[in-house]
Amino acid sequence: MDTIKKLFRLKNPYDQERSEKLFPAAIKQNCIFHYEHNPAYRALLDGQGFSPYDKNAFDDLAKLPPLPTLYFKHHLLLSVPNRKLIVRATSSGTSGQNQSMVGLDFYSLRRAFDEVRRFFSYHKIWSLKPTRFVIFGYEHKFKNKKAVAQTAWGFTFTAPAVSKDYVLRYRNGDYIVDLDSIERKLIKYAKGKLPVRTLGFPAYTYFLLKQMKEHGVKVRLPKGSMMTLGGGWKQFYAERISKEDFYALAFEVLGIEQENIIEFFGAVEHPILWTQCKYHRFHVPNYARVIIRDVDDLLPLPNGQVGIINLLTPMCRATPLTSVMTDDLGILHENDCGCGIRSPYLEIIGRVGIEDIQTCAAGAENILEGKNDTRTRKTL
Ligand SMILES: [Zn+2]
Repeated sequence: MDTIKKLFRLKNPYDQERSEKLFPAAIKQNCIFHYEHNPAYRALLDGQGFSPYDKNAFDDLAKLPPLPTLYFKHHLLLSVPNRKLIVRATSSGTSGQNQSMVGLDFYSLRRAFDEVRRFFSYHKIWSLKPTRFVIFGYEHKFKNKKAVAQTAWGFTFTAPAVSKDYVLRYRNGDYIVDLDSIERKLIKYAKGKLPVRTLGFPAYTYFLLKQMKEHGVKVRLPKGSMMTLGGGWKQFYAERISKEDFYALAFEVLGIEQENIIEFFGAVEHPILWTQCKYHRFHVPNYARVIIRDVDDLLPLPNGQVGIINLLTPMCRATPLTSVMTDDLGILHENDCGCGIRSPYLEIIGRVGIEDIQTCAAGAENILEGKNDTRTRKTL
């Protein structure tokens, strides 16, 4: 009986009643798989005195020892043989050393496919209208293993693509930033009839919007256009600009209404595509659970309090991503959002130890500051 499959096939991605029952059993199934196939993971759990076979082991998911995301930056933990890996994803860390390595096998990819299909149906992202895609990210190359590049490329299949333009273009073995040509294209596309969908790092999207505003550009993208944001957003909002200001700027420059801006969030160490509701909140989907932990003693906190975000998902079979401790601070809210989704929603506040960690947004800014020689580092 495959509970994980069952969980990922629930029609409504926010089916609280059914997922409440299935989730702990799915986590148990995933944890036992890793325990039996991954000696390093087994040693970690044994060292914490946790046995996945204990009768009550999964009554309280907070008891399952989480692995810090930092751990995946130093160790490639695999629970399936190398030859079974279809994707080897690396995170968008700022240097080679900061990248997490995570593998996905066929089983995990099928779950990802089920999950994304249901999210996109629920949030009405699939479209049959021919669409122009503008990606504020890396041009897709098969040797680019960054998860964000793969996701962005995958997104261009949500509607029939008439064109695909990338801000980070691949030229002679390196990526170059090309905001100016995207600006010209958006102005041109605004005169046409085909909807435009943008996707990518909020940092680049913001830099382009700012540049267009400085140039006095005010256009309206055709009806049905959508701006989607994801990847490398983490402390960008906390430090650079409020969401409200961002939405106002997108409306001023491109005529995109707030409800047509959708944000995604996910990580290499937690490959679930969290999708915002119409009120811009990240509701807990069937496929994941959140435990907010106290910064000092890592004990679980009640909803409504700020702590470190611990994310759980039974999705991945190739790497034990069952329970992962992020370095982000957040709050889990229980109050009714009003959008129709009943599950609590996660507010991400920012990163712990902000000064120690170089961010994607900072990396993006460095590239833009050195704009004269548009050569970029390969890692961002
Ligand atoms: Zn909502």
